Amino acid sequence: MIVVYVETSAEGVNEVSLETVTLARDLSAAGGGVPIDAVVVGPAPAGVASELAAYGVRTVHHADADDFELFSGAATAAAVVAARQASGSVVVMAGGTNRGNEVLARAATRLGVAMAANVVSFGGLSPFVVTRQVVGGAALEEMRLSQRPAVFTVAGHAVDPAPAAEPAAGTLQPLAVELTPADLAVRVVSVQRESTDDDGGLRSARIVVGAGRGAGGPDGFKGVIELTELLGGSLGVSRVVTSLGWRPHNEQVGQTGSRISPDVYIPCGISGAIQHWAGCASSKVILAINTDAEAPMMTKATYAVIGDMHEVVPAINEEIRRRRA
Ligand SMILES: Cc1cc2nc3c(=O)[nH]c(=O)nc-3n(C[C@H](O)[C@H](O)[C@H](O)COP(=O)(O)OP(=O)(O)OC[C@H]3O[C@@H](n4cnc5c(N)ncnc54)[C@H](O)[C@@H]3O)c2cc1C
Repeated sequence: MIVVYVETSAEGVNEVSLETVTLARDLSAAGGGVPIDAVVVGPAPAGVASELAAYGVRTVHHADADDFELFSGAATAAAVVAARQASGSVVVMAGGTNRGNEVLARAATRLGVAMAANVVSFGGLSPFVVTRQVVGGAALEEMRLSQRPAVFTVAGHAVDPAPAAEPAAGTLQPLAVELTPADLAVRVVSVQRESTDDDGGLRSARIVVGAGRGAGGPDGFKGVIELTELLGGSLGVSRVVTSLGWRPHNEQVGQTGSRISPDVYIPCGISGAIQHWAGCASSKVILAINTDAEAPMMTKATYAVIGDMHEVVPAINEEIRRRRA
């Protein structure tokens, strides 16, 4: 049995959770078709059980007490452990988001087992081997999970989310969780949304256009913003750009910003320092634009254009417009 901690919003199940359930199906198939359950903690969007059923989830264990109204890592971990118990699961998974990693680290501690974060694939059941991103995604590591349950999170975009060939039953089952005061000692007490806290879809964007110090100043982003719009992507920037106040922090990519895994990343005037690379190493294709051919980003990129971003980017924009016309 496999149980997946699924994160939701009012709109439905988040994409990384759907990717995680998709990977869980591979695991299930390797194990002879063991059922996949999910655990949802706190208010659930309408139709969550049928949305997950389409991805092959048999039962959604729903912890919906008042104490789960706002997020607490410890309380959510208690719910995940309760769902594992209820489902008899030998594998516990979650998406590799900040929240998923926190909750599963806490759950693994409660279960007295190790946890592997940011897994991209699994390599067999006996022994149970996973491959995961380490050093901020700059390297891959194989890890054996010899304890049960095997607990791990799945890196964003490690797999494409895909509905199951055969939908599962998808029943919603209330989950009783016993919480102690300690479980609620650290919790979110209120949520205030500001547009600047929003990443503008950066983390889940399929195309990201990046800009760094090479932009030259707050007025140097016109070309990259236009390219972003033409490609229907998101803008991501380096820390230099946010530190200098040229762009808001919610656009920052890297170790202290967002981790992105787009199909295409186009970093312009970004050197590719390790802290920036930590946030973009999972990009499938990188097209770097930089005046310095030896910049780390240029040497790691799939394609590199040596040139001034203020000339190259407008030329790309012009060509896109010309072809579309
Ligand atoms: C603890 C810690 C955490 C950090 N976290 C992050 C993080 O999350 N994200 C992050 O990005 N950084 C982070 N940093 C900072 C990081 O080390 C680098 O300083 C930063 O990424 C550099 O930004 P940059 O590439 O824009 O600037 P630079 O390193 O100065 O590079 C600018 C690049 O632009 C090129 N260039 C200049 N003019 C042009 C032009 N006209 N056209 C084309 N190319 C041009 C240059 O050749 C150069 O390669 C962190 C650092 C620390 C210590």
